[in-house]
Amino acid sequence: MTQCQTASAAASRAWRRLSLRWRGSPPCALCSAPSRPGERLCAGCHADLPWLDQARCARCGDPAAAAIASKDGTGSCDRCRREPPAFERLVTALGYRFPVDAMIRRLKFDGELWLVPVLAGLLLERCSDVPRPQYLVPVPLSDRRLAARGFNQSAELARVLAAHLGIASRPQLLRRARDTPPQSGLPLSGRVANLRGAFVVDYPVQGLHVALVDDVATTGATGAEAAHALLRQGAARVDLWTVAHTLPGRQG
Ligand SMILES: [Zn+2]
Ligand SMILES: [Zn+2]
Repeated sequence: MTQCQTASAAASRAWRRLSLRWRGSPPCALCSAPSRPGERLCAGCHADLPWLDQARCARCGDPAAAAIASKDGTGSCDRCRREPPAFERLVTALGYRFPVDAMIRRLKFDGELWLVPVLAGLLLERCSDVPRPQYLVPVPLSDRRLAARGFNQSAELARVLAAHLGIASRPQLLRRARDTPPQSGLPLSGRVANLRGAFVVDYPVQGLHVALVDDVATTGATGAEAAHALLRQGAARVDLWTVAHTLPGRQG
């Protein structure tokens, strides 16, 4: 069993133990008040989350482009029509702001894997009208980062999403060809250059509709480069699903 699978199995066991301990509603993950039945957040904390307004470009998520996007009914902003990103549709739920940023950091850097079903559940709330892909493909970590963290948070999210949606998660389909320096702190042009050729597709994807899964998108450069790699190998369509997005926007 790999280190990753071990972490994953441990998370499943911990989650089962928690569920058994709280046969009714477990305490809210954010404030310890009773959570909603079957959920891990109370109604107040759920309502107060920085939900992203859905009036935004369906392709890149830019809220500033929402008015333009709705005019011709394509849902795409001017910039996306001129220069479409490689992914067909961005599906995202929350602004990368408190407490979502803190939850994602606790998951990634403190290994709090019990947050995986909480975060996946929040993204699922925005997936009801989304065309179903054949596969969910987590954005891979480099081998070095995977070894250091012990798990890929995107793979954990994809596994839970796939189970809920009854579709397959295929973490082995895409891998990092090389380690890339962290994207944070780089300007957009630097992010794109940093990622060029970073992903390799290891399985046939000809004609497939695939959704990439990531915890958070910033510029979308990582998702776009991963989508490019899949499209170059013949994928018919690639969407990008992320729990959170750093784009500014009204809260809805
Ligand atoms: Zn709460
Ligand atoms: Zn756009």
